[in-house]
Amino acid sequence: MNKKGSVVSDVLGNFDHGLTLALSKGRILKETLPLLANANIALLEDPEHSRKLIFPTTHPHVRILILRASDVPTYVENGAADIGVAGKDVLMEHGAHNVYELLDLKIARCRLMTAGKVGAVRPAGRLKIATKYVHLTRQYFAGLGEQVDVIKLYGSMELAPLVGLGDLIVDVVDTGNTLRANGLEPLEEICKISSRLIVNKASFKRKQAVLGPILAQLEQAVAAKSV
Ligand code: AMP
Repeated sequence: MNKKGSVVSDVLGNFDHGLTLALSKGRILKETLPLLANANIALLEDPEHSRKLIFPTTHPHVRILILRASDVPTYVENGAADIGVAGKDVLMEHGAHNVYELLDLKIARCRLMTAGKVGAVRPAGRLKIATKYVHLTRQYFAGLGEQVDVIKLYGSMELAPLVGLGDLIVDVVDTGNTLRANGLEPLEEICKISSRLIVNKASFKRKQAVLGPILAQLEQAVAAKSV
């Protein structure tokens, strides 16, 4: 088997000696890669242009899984990945069990907000809120002492108020451009969001030899960026 072939079979096979890192495509991948470069971890192939879901890296003991953002905590808490990068929104909504949140990577920053049609008057009675953040939405409105009906969606939340599916939405907002493009406006900030490095508790104990130096280098990279 050639050299490349042996790397591929390694990452697909038993990787118990190494560290498996779970990431999601898009903003998190793009903003995590420069931090990983500081720990001498680079991808050998661009996942944005590949159908593969599991990737070797330049670090002989690190491989990367590319998952749906909302699945990252599940892989890490079950030990299928040792560490992962997930948005605080996903961690709070999902509830992260069996994992430690090691580091605020201060990337993919945004805000969890309520939003509604520009200038809309609040209807009398119980509000209907369309969102994929069902748990966080219930918690937020309960904290305000308000009973609301929550409608679970999986995406394109901005559409809901425009076609009468809910009075408001709860979604993450960065520039607000997507809201504005759909005739919506941000209303109340629920909390600030950034991506966090999480680790499976057992891996944290068992894999210190590989994880320790990587964590230290990531901490350094985050600190250097925030200066
Ligand atoms: P915006 O810049 O507010 O127009 O955001 C563009 C879209 O990306 C919106 O639909 C947001 O829900 C989503 N979005 C923005 N920032 C993040 C983030 N950090 N993590 C996940 N989704 C995001």
